[in-house]
Amino acid sequence: MRRMFTAATAALTLTTAGTMLAGTPGQAAPSGWGRPVVTAAPQPGAPGLGDSYFPDYGNGGYDVGHYDVRLRYDPASDQLSGTTTILATATQDLSAFNLDFLLDVESVRVNGWAASTSTAGTHELVVTPARTVTRGQQLTIVVRYAGIPSETLVGGYTGWTRTDDGAMVVNEPEAAWWWFPSNDHPLDKATFDISVSVPTGVEVISNGVQPRPPAAEAGNRTRWIWRTTSPTAPYLAFLAIGQYDIVTDTTPGGQPVVNAYSTSLGALGPAARASIERTAEIIDWESGIFGPYPFEAQGGVAGPVDGIGFALETQTRPVYGPGFWRRGANTYVVAHELAHQWFGDSVSVADWRNIWLNEGFASYAEWLWSEEQGEGTAQEVFDFAYASYPADDEFWQVLPGDPGAARIFDGAVYDRGAMTLHQLRLAVGDDAFFEILPAWTAEHRYGNGTIEQFQALAEQISGLDLDDLFTTWLFTAGRPDVATTARKATAAPTAPKSWAKISESHDLLSH
Ligand SMILES: [Zn+2]
Repeated sequence: MRRMFTAATAALTLTTAGTMLAGTPGQAAPSGWGRPVVTAAPQPGAPGLGDSYFPDYGNGGYDVGHYDVRLRYDPASDQLSGTTTILATATQDLSAFNLDFLLDVESVRVNGWAASTSTAGTHELVVTPARTVTRGQQLTIVVRYAGIPSETLVGGYTGWTRTDDGAMVVNEPEAAWWWFPSNDHPLDKATFDISVSVPTGVEVISNGVQPRPPAAEAGNRTRWIWRTTSPTAPYLAFLAIGQYDIVTDTTPGGQPVVNAYSTSLGALGPAARASIERTAEIIDWESGIFGPYPFEAQGGVAGPVDGIGFALETQTRPVYGPGFWRRGANTYVVAHELAHQWFGDSVSVADWRNIWLNEGFASYAEWLWSEEQGEGTAQEVFDFAYASYPADDEFWQVLPGDPGAARIFDGAVYDRGAMTLHQLRLAVGDDAFFEILPAWTAEHRYGNGTIEQFQALAEQISGLDLDDLFTTWLFTAGRPDVATTARKATAAPTAPKSWAKISESHDLLSH
């Protein structure tokens, strides 16, 4: 789903977080962190939220409610500058707090008072306010900054992709660092206003709706404004800047649709349109299975030929790389990214270790779509997928329930992840299975979840003890034996019609 650099940084950041976090977890700390220590003197907010894989992603001591990101961008130079205003609430008395950010900071103000700043770790901006912050205090944090994001590297890596005609910032789990300061972990969601001034003639696409049409500014420039009113994890905010054909519409249910197609796609353009234009139809179908669509807008972005090589479930508007259209339309990747709107975006991981809750479910949505399209039942896809990985294949050594920081997008998280859900469906039966999915999205709507919570819900609804099933399929190396399950894989199954598109998608999404 993304280019990786995290294996190196995860090891690096353990030290930083480990030393600085002791005794000062800021907010709703994940298990494993100490209880808040009651002290007389205000303490610095933690530099991370204690994620098992990425301990210094996000920060402690405050909770963000809203980001106002106001930028100016020049494609010719890749120069990005602007101001982000963060509305937050302090969750402890703070002498200092961190933001996750990489560009050069000109100034930071906290409630109007100039603050001092320094940097730490791989991506930490340490803000020391002029006045101590008290628990429960409303904070208005104004950060002014500038930089060239494509040249701002961490471990040789940038999450910002410069293209021939602009740029895109679409990445997981780290994307915000290169364009706005944030509390960068799915545990702290917020609403967004995003506006970008670009030379007139350049398009800017982002999340949500356009409160007003693009407006002319001095110097032959145009400002684009986007608004997201549902809670959004920082990595799910995105920008696509360049030459795009934009198609707007309204669904029968009244939701605004914004689809955008890079003009660089050329002969790939029709296949991109034949896939992405089916977004509203697929959302409607998925709503019948997963529960009400959680967001205020819909759409998709077909990125340029020199942009990203994968696709990402950026909230309300997934972004797709060009590779998905090389062999014609591919609605399977669309079904995958749209399923993430429920599984990943509305219900986000509480800890990146739980990535199966995103990728296993979005992959299984493709199997259900195959069934819906008459291109192979989920059982047929299971049989073929299972048989396509020999028992001694390394594939079976990756644990979808705990793949490790460097393998959160391993193919096993997708394919074995989907197999796990199919086994759950066989174990509990269709009635219970299709009750569990919408119950999960309702219970954790706009929040976070863990695998353990999902198992508990599945057990509660089915009345079955599912510990063996989850342990075997998610947490045990080796190919599980399906002879003991309700259905047995045939010896040499033939490929369902959907398999070429599903496997092509997973080859591009995973690595
Ligand atoms: Zn995915």
